[in-house]
Amino acid sequence: MTTAYPDTLLFIGGAWQPAASGKTLAVENPATAEQIGTCAHAGIADLDAALDAAEAGFKVWRKTPAPHRSATLRKAAALLRERADTIGNILTQEQGKPLAQGVVEVHTAADILEWFAEEARRIYGRTIPGRSSRVVQRVEKEPVGVVAAFSPWNFPISQAIRKVGAAVAAGCAIVIKGPEETPASCAEMVRALADAGLPAGVVNLVFGSPAEISGYLIPHPIVRKVTFTGSTQVGKQLASLAGLHMKRVTMELGGHAPVLVFADADLEANAKMLAQNKVRNAGQVCVSPTRFLVQDEAYDRFVGHFTTEMAQIRVGNGLDEGIEMGALANGRRVEAIEAMVADAVRHGATVRTGGERIGNKGHFYQPTVLTDVPIDARAMNEEPFGPVALFSRFSTFDDAIVEANRLPFGLGAYVYSGSLSTANQAAAAIESGMVSVNHQGLGLIETPFGGVKDSGYGSEGGSEAIEAYFATKFVTTLG
Ligand code: NAD
Repeated sequence: MTTAYPDTLLFIGGAWQPAASGKTLAVENPATAEQIGTCAHAGIADLDAALDAAEAGFKVWRKTPAPHRSATLRKAAALLRERADTIGNILTQEQGKPLAQGVVEVHTAADILEWFAEEARRIYGRTIPGRSSRVVQRVEKEPVGVVAAFSPWNFPISQAIRKVGAAVAAGCAIVIKGPEETPASCAEMVRALADAGLPAGVVNLVFGSPAEISGYLIPHPIVRKVTFTGSTQVGKQLASLAGLHMKRVTMELGGHAPVLVFADADLEANAKMLAQNKVRNAGQVCVSPTRFLVQDEAYDRFVGHFTTEMAQIRVGNGLDEGIEMGALANGRRVEAIEAMVADAVRHGATVRTGGERIGNKGHFYQPTVLTDVPIDARAMNEEPFGPVALFSRFSTFDDAIVEANRLPFGLGAYVYSGSLSTANQAAAAIESGMVSVNHQGLGLIETPFGGVKDSGYGSEGGSEAIEAYFATKFVTTLG
């Protein structure tokens, strides 16, 4: 059954409200390309109201004891689990992913809140021995202040909640610019926190023109910390602006994950697992396996297994039964993928399966396998962010590492080998924030999540995640 799709308002100072100007944006269902609702479009007056609310919320929340903050997060997690089917349905309608993936995303969001609820209870300082017996030196962690957060459309809830959960657990307040194309599920996440009893102003949700909002919030004196998930290009602009205004920054940016398949790997099982991973969220995942580098002796067999799997993926409206891959989230992605595939073919790549958009309604594209893709093809250099697997061969370990490290990105990487020694050496040599060996183990909340090089800095998972929301204070006392 389809849940009625709600229009989305701004959430400022504990109240849902339209934009002061009354402006809205259209929201479409990517499976039909038809408008299904609207989203309020904040202007400067709304941003000022959100900043004032956050400043007031921070004053209350920073003094709220950690066990109480923890309990509020737990309650919100429980509400998300209760509402998972409904919210998952809304998510699929606006984002396109299969319903099962939408529902899993809501449960993942609950996992994330529970993790941060635990972290809130473990905010420890330390003491440092003084140089005199009368001196006590202590280090305290204080919440950094009001956070400006920017989260994208590929995981409308789980990207946003990594930021919101960490900020709220640490005792900060936050103004989050949610994804305009997928606003309602993100708003439901905020509703769960509000219904759990979060005081007014601690979390504020806005939508609008991304450049206008970041251009206003980042330099604003009330904002002390900036966190962004999105493309490297935009991330560099926002990090520059934050640098200019001395704001702390976390950047979770683009990737182009290399997948090293050595000849001694379990080819059939890994091909099956990797094909499922490739089409997850239609490939619109920053750690999606992308550049498949396969050792010569195994190349034909591995490509054969992988292509068979990709050709069998059931594509369709994410609300329909048995669908494994839904529509891409917007028309821009289909156009980008079409252009990249055409360019790769012009450069000499072979289309083994897919390579076409599907139908003339909605933003569907076939799961696609391109083989022998030369490194000067655009797709080998820019993040495809779609259901496209790019294959090339390598002979030696060193060749594979050179190609894996060729790009400026360094987010996720995958290694498959029957030799622990080869796997360990590859994991050590790859320049990447995360490496998964012989399985698909990235993105769990209890493990670090972040990149190196142009993929950004900071971590949105593991015990590192909450650290970004603290300022360190040193207090020395002569008694
Ligand atoms: P885009 O680069 O314009 O937008 C990417 C994200 O950044 C969106 O959420 C958008 O709202 C936000 N954004 C854009 N300009 C901004 C600004 N000036 N200030 C604040 N936020 C801003 O393009 P797009 O078509 O939405 O996505 C294109 C590429 O972005 C994708 O191909 C992918 O490489 C990358 N992307 C990455 C992630 C991720 O999880 N790391 C998520 C979404 C998009």
